[in-house]
Amino acid sequence: MLKVLNHKSFDKSELLIRASERRHAAWGKIVTYSRKVFVPLTNMCRDTCSYCTFVKHPNSKSAQILNPESVLEIVRLGERSGCKEVLLSLGEKPELRYEKAREELKKLGFSTMVGYLKFVCQMILRESTLLPHVNAGTLSEDEISSLKPVAASMGMMLESVSRRLTKRGMPHFACPDKIPVQRIRTMNNMGMLKVPFTTGVLIGIGESWDERIETLKAIEDSHRKYNHIQEVIVQNFVPKPDIKMRNFPGPDQEEMLITIALARLILSPEISIQSPPNLSAYHVNYLDAGLNDWGGISPVTDDYINPEKTWPRIEELRASTKSKGFELQERLTVYPRFQNKKDGFLSPNMFRRVTGLRRKDGLARKQCC
Ligand code: SF4
Repeated sequence: MLKVLNHKSFDKSELLIRASERRHAAWGKIVTYSRKVFVPLTNMCRDTCSYCTFVKHPNSKSAQILNPESVLEIVRLGERSGCKEVLLSLGEKPELRYEKAREELKKLGFSTMVGYLKFVCQMILRESTLLPHVNAGTLSEDEISSLKPVAASMGMMLESVSRRLTKRGMPHFACPDKIPVQRIRTMNNMGMLKVPFTTGVLIGIGESWDERIETLKAIEDSHRKYNHIQEVIVQNFVPKPDIKMRNFPGPDQEEMLITIALARLILSPEISIQSPPNLSAYHVNYLDAGLNDWGGISPVTDDYINPEKTWPRIEELRASTKSKGFELQERLTVYPRFQNKKDGFLSPNMFRRVTGLRRKDGLARKQCC
């Protein structure tokens, strides 16, 4: 695709005003976050994205699949710290590429990561009050159907619909799960199967402005068909010394503000717009561009995708959010509009669990200690 637009193509002030008005009409003065623990179920992955530090090659000593006891330890720590969401994050189908992944899974009694993931979600539901949110990458219809009864919500970053980024020398080269059509298929299957779904765009990995806008439009198209997208994350690429893209600069503040505003204006107003607050020093300014959610914040576990970036303390985030005239409120991993039993977004078991954790307006109930 030709690079037609650049950031000078946009009237930033005008965009920010329009995006803020649209956010205000749909979300008022409330900005939300989800109190979560993060479980990196496996850091092995069959893909090799050039910007990823989460992934470990099976030859590395730190390549692993967490056993059930380690998962429970994290979950219990989260429960004691008032978390309501457990985010299960994993590399894509490592068993299809690596013997070590197959061996580790076999020791645990499974042949696929998705089979083990389902078992782990069942264990979390049995042993805790937390709501599993599953980030397992591209999934087939059958895999989504098998996970839906045990996951309150699921996510997969669309990242970019640019096929250019899959060519040799580009960040998604030889990454079968980053072929745009595969990710769009998963996003649509999530909608067909009525899964409350999180997706997002990754900014600064070599995509053009046109491709960025095309990605946002692909998300909106899917949502218009299935009405299943809860939130869209606008995530900035962060360079790190140990990745192939270490010399690429991350996007600057101007680029992030324009992209967040475009997301707010292109996407349906009921879709929450989110950006991780630990990935930029100026995140509070995102509130001027139509953002209404800070995503999952953990009081106890690291951001394993960007481990050098610590989460802000929730009270600090509350204060910075307030400084822009907004009120920070805790939400569940399932947004209020997906909590009605009759709409079919929650399995009966998950509906009961969500009911126990929600307030009347669908946000998170305050926990007494
Ligand atoms: S698919 Fe995800 S986990 Fe795998 S290499 Fe790419 S970014 Fe990392």
